[in-house]
Amino acid sequence: MTTLALSPDAAATVLAEQQEAYADLRARNLTLDLTRGKPSAEQLDLSDGLFALPAPGTVASENGVDVRNYGGLDGLVELRRIFAELLDVPVEQLLAGGNGSLTLMHDTLAFATLFGVPGGERPWGREETVTFLCPSPGYDRHFAVCEALGIRMVPIPMTPDGPDAEAAAALVADDPSIKGMWVVPTYANPDGSVVTTEVARRLVSMPTAAPDFRILWDNAYAVHHLTDDEVVSADALGLAAEAGHADRVLMYASTSKITFPGAGVSFLAASPANLAWYKKHLAAQSIGPDKVNHLRHAQFFGDAEGVRAHMRKHRDVIAPKFAAVEQILTERLGGTGVARWTTPKGGYFVSLDVVPGTAARVVALAKDAGIALTPAGSTYPYGQDPVDGNIRLAPTLPPLDEVEVAMDGVATCVLLAAAEAATGSLPS
Ligand code: PMP
Repeated sequence: MTTLALSPDAAATVLAEQQEAYADLRARNLTLDLTRGKPSAEQLDLSDGLFALPAPGTVASENGVDVRNYGGLDGLVELRRIFAELLDVPVEQLLAGGNGSLTLMHDTLAFATLFGVPGGERPWGREETVTFLCPSPGYDRHFAVCEALGIRMVPIPMTPDGPDAEAAAALVADDPSIKGMWVVPTYANPDGSVVTTEVARRLVSMPTAAPDFRILWDNAYAVHHLTDDEVVSADALGLAAEAGHADRVLMYASTSKITFPGAGVSFLAASPANLAWYKKHLAAQSIGPDKVNHLRHAQFFGDAEGVRAHMRKHRDVIAPKFAAVEQILTERLGGTGVARWTTPKGGYFVSLDVVPGTAARVVALAKDAGIALTPAGSTYPYGQDPVDGNIRLAPTLPPLDEVEVAMDGVATCVLLAAAEAATGSLPS
């Protein structure tokens, strides 16, 4: 891949032009926010039908369980059946939980730390060092979970087909402290890549020095398409079982960006042994999930096709915002050599690479002009981007006109920082 830089010949002119553009930008006193991947109010409105559900009088699930009462650790079967189809996993291997899959991921690692996992020799907390491979750029909250639990993080590169499986395989082969890795298989946060079957097969079958190696397969964007090319990521659980490593993969998902992030349903799919292990520890923590919310969601969607139809409405709202990002980046930065960005077919993010050494400067310039961007470095473990070159853009929350203004401003900041770098005038 070519190194991003402004040609020295153009640098002085671009610097003068962009200093002027930046002064104009600041004079507008904007307050715009492209920081977090949240649904917009217009998207949340799509699920307001949930407020009328479950319909009064429908308190029993299809197998007679009264959803108002305690119990049912697995979650409501009618909702699990819908998401089992969407996630392509057997319904018996799918648990429905509370409102956030991040909790399930955190608790998986907390249980592993406290109690160990099936096939392991001892609790991870009794190991001298526990290491996780972190494909980067990646999701900052994954990294925060590791940090909170004292798990050492080692970044590995991303490719257009998901994590660099060869890099992973080389590291896990001889280092028994590497107990696992993160994967966001569909429309990854932030680069939008989708794990191919080849990459998935390599990851689930690679020999690992740790006997209890786990892949946290965070399928947060499984149904979040932005185009007609509705990509389906690899069947990791099936491939892992086929490879003789059924317990290697735990898959997570949620309705956070389908219905309400604050009041949705999370899912965990895993091998029978992993699921029994998880439920054993969960049982000490909970008498059962919010089955009323499960029933509400099951009634709202009806079936898997109901979810797909609902996601097409989300797409109608957010695809124009992604198109605006693409168009403005292309118009302002295309051919300049100072930036490279992803054009995702789904998910919530655009990953923007700028001239090495300028990402933090771009974010600071944008902030001074009233445009909030995700902090530079947050897509890497410990917040440390080794080249200070990656910025995550999240265009779903603001209205379209604000996305357009913000992206034009971002382009100005990218060019200005690149010109500063090329003329040796980057502030230290
Ligand atoms: N995983 C990924 C990759 C995400 O991008 C997000 C939301 N930004 C989450 C998980 C959070 O999921 P939940 O709301 O289910 O906790």
